[in-house]
Order: sequence, then structure tokens, then C-alpha cells
Amino acid sequence: MASLRIDRVFKRFGSVTALAQVTLDIHDGELMVLLGPSGCGKTTLLRAVAGLETVDGGEIYVGTERVTEIPPHRRNIAMVFQNYALYPNLNVFDNIAFPLRARRMPREKVAQQVQAAAHRLGLTEILGRKPHQLSGGQRQRVAIARAIVREPAVFLMDEPLSNLDAQLRGRLRTELTRLQRQLRTTTIYVTHDQVEAMTMGDRIAILEGGRLQQVGTPAELYHRPVNLFVAGFLGSPSMNLVEAQSAPRKGKPGVLLGGQGWLPLPDHYRHLPPGLGVKVGIRPESLQIRQAADAFATGRVEVVEYSGFETVLVVSVQGPHTIQEWSVKMLGHPPARVGDVVPLTVSPDQIHLFLSDSGERIGMPVAPGEPSHLRWTEPEGTLAWAESLPAAAPVPAETTQ
Ligand code: ATP
Repeated sequence: MASLRIDRVFKRFGSVTALAQVTLDIHDGELMVLLGPSGCGKTTLLRAVAGLETVDGGEIYVGTERVTEIPPHRRNIAMVFQNYALYPNLNVFDNIAFPLRARRMPREKVAQQVQAAAHRLGLTEILGRKPHQLSGGQRQRVAIARAIVREPAVFLMDEPLSNLDAQLRGRLRTELTRLQRQLRTTTIYVTHDQVEAMTMGDRIAILEGGRLQQVGTPAELYHRPVNLFVAGFLGSPSMNLVEAQSAPRKGKPGVLLGGQGWLPLPDHYRHLPPGLGVKVGIRPESLQIRQAADAFATGRVEVVEYSGFETVLVVSVQGPHTIQEWSVKMLGHPPARVGDVVPLTVSPDQIHLFLSDSGERIGMPVAPGEPSHLRWTEPEGTLAWAESLPAAAPVPAETTQ
């Protein structure tokens, strides 16, 4: 096992910058998920770490060893792809045994290792079958078994579950997470599926346009996205994002939502200059539709999506020039029907605020149950928001470039 350091890695394909000075530290034994939309550079980064792609700048270290120019087969890294790449003429046993035999491992030791990996992945009964006699899930398990027998320092997985149907994908996701927790092999897992990212990752790195946007635990990214991109990317339905202007009232901070109501903000926003263009972000589950004096808008229910466990409503609020649609998510049965007129309320500490022009976060709400060292306070008299951390607490790894 080993840590992995990706240091200012830069890669261009012609005029396309696939990786723009990406720096990422992956701890020994950690499962780091690389998440981002199609074309953001996930596969390029993985291939660069594996040595399958040369880089135009920057360095890669496995543990303390600089591997930037070392060929792939000498990096002690195993990769699992979305297409399983099994040898069609070899049975399951021989497929798993392949990398061990290539190392000229003694026959009994090969058998031992293959049996152990097959046992871990539930393949013992099908060791004699050829790949064409296997289901998609079984083939992917064989590919994973072949990767783990190598006992690599690092695992790289590129969307390994994306060819599977939803149910199998969910099951293998749990199995893979358990396996990684048992083996504790340092892993980079590429996906564009945010459920996989949130449920599997010790930490998640979000890429967009070859740039790292934020690195942190799933909870950190969900509860305090550093910019509009991360805010909109994580969460389903997406965070409601609405243009607004800072508009204090009677000394209390607040924002005026375009054509809708006034929304009070927590007191730590009291230094926001009046008239500042902001984007207000509210997660669908932070909105409520109860009658209350502090409702900031009233809208018409347009869509009701009931999925057994929860309900999502789409509520449209008519402004003077535009209609704003809000997604509202709640547990259980729908509390309203299409056509109902409902008030919208939100607790001020559930509001996310971003600068309209740059998209950067301003301050942060404190999520229920979040440890207090994650609270942000604002230094007196400035707009440079900061985190107040007890001296001994580690600073959560967070990178914006
Ligand atoms: P996806 O989720 O669709 O697989 P990705 O995030 O893995 O996307 P990459 O495959 O890393 O994205 O591609 C990053 C950018 O680099 C894209 O704009 C892509 O078109 C470009 N690119 C990747 N490989 C090459 C190549 N061999 N030649 C030219 N451009 C490339």
C-alpha cells in the first residue's frame, strides 16, 4: 500500500487542456472518487497515473517514489475498466491467474491466491467457466479479482460498474466498497454517477474542464460546496439556484429574490454590501411548504413525483418578468396536489450564498449534526470568509484552483 501524490499535472491534446495543473494527494488506504461531467479529464488523469498517458507537466509519486516517467508495468498499479477486458479463451481461474503466472509465481501459490480472490468475490463455483458463459456482473468480478491478486500499491477503477443494470450496479457498489475497506488498497475510482461518489468515497475530487474544483468528504462537498458548479453538480434534484441582491432590512442581513420575496440571512452575513449580486442556493430538502409568517414566496404546484419513500414537488413562483421553479423534496406522501397554491419557507441557516459574477461561495450554513469545527465565521469587517478551527483540528483538505 502507498499514498499517491499528483502534483501540478498538466496535459494538453492539441488545443484542448485536458488537465490544468491538477494537484491531489490521496492518502494510504483511501478510496478517492474522481467525479465530474463527461470530458472533464477523469480518464486522462487516471491514465496519467497508470502511465498509459504521458503528461506535459507536473509529477506523480507513488509513496515516495517519483513514477512520472516510469512505464506502466513497473508502477505497481492495477486498473479495472468499464469493459472487463477478460481473455475470452481462458476460463475464470486462468484469467485471474494470468498476472501471477506472468510473474512466474510457483503453481501452488498461484492456486492459493486465485482461490482466495475467487472466494472474496463469490466466484468459487464458476472458476471453470469461460467469459462468454458469465453474466456482466460476474465478468466484472473476475476483472476485479484479477486486479486484486496482483496486490498492487494502487487500484485505479474507471467506471467499472457503468455497463451493469441498476440493481446489479447497486449490489456491486456495496461489495466493492466492502472489499476496498477490507484490503485498504489506495484507490482512485472514476465515475460520473454522484450516488456512487457519495456512497463509496472516503473523499471526492470534483473536476470540471480539467480543473479541480473541490476535494473533500462527501458531507463537506454536499453541505459546503465551494462554488456554483459543485453546488449544482451534487444532489438530486439539483440545488435550487436563484439570482438575488443583498438587501439588508432594519440592520438585518437578507436578500431580495428576483421578483419574489425577501429572505432573511443568518447574522454572520451582516457585512454583505447592499445591492451585491448573489446567487441563493437552497437544497430541495431544505424547503418546506408550510403556512408560516416567514414564507418568502407563494407558488403553484406544477409537478408531483411520489417515489414511495419520498416526494418531489415542482413549485412555480410568478415574478414580474420571469417564472421561478423550485424543487421541494420531503419524506413520504405528497402533501399537496397539482394546482395547489403553497407557501415556501426555509430556515436561514440552510441557505447557501454565492457571488453572482465568480460563482464562489460566500460563508456557509452549518448542517445539522456537523461538528462545530466546520462552522464558518467571518472576520470582523471583511468579506473574506474564513473557517474557525480549533488549533489542533486538521484543516479539511479542500482545493480550489
Ligand atoms: P467521460 O466521462 O466522457 O469518459 P472524462 O472526464 O473521462 O470523460 P477525458 O476522457 O479525460 O474525459 O477527456 C478530457 C478531454 O480531453 C476531453 O475534451 C477529450 O475530448 C480530450 N481527449 C481525451 N483523450 C484525447 C485524445 N487521445 N486525443 C484528443 N483529445 C483527447
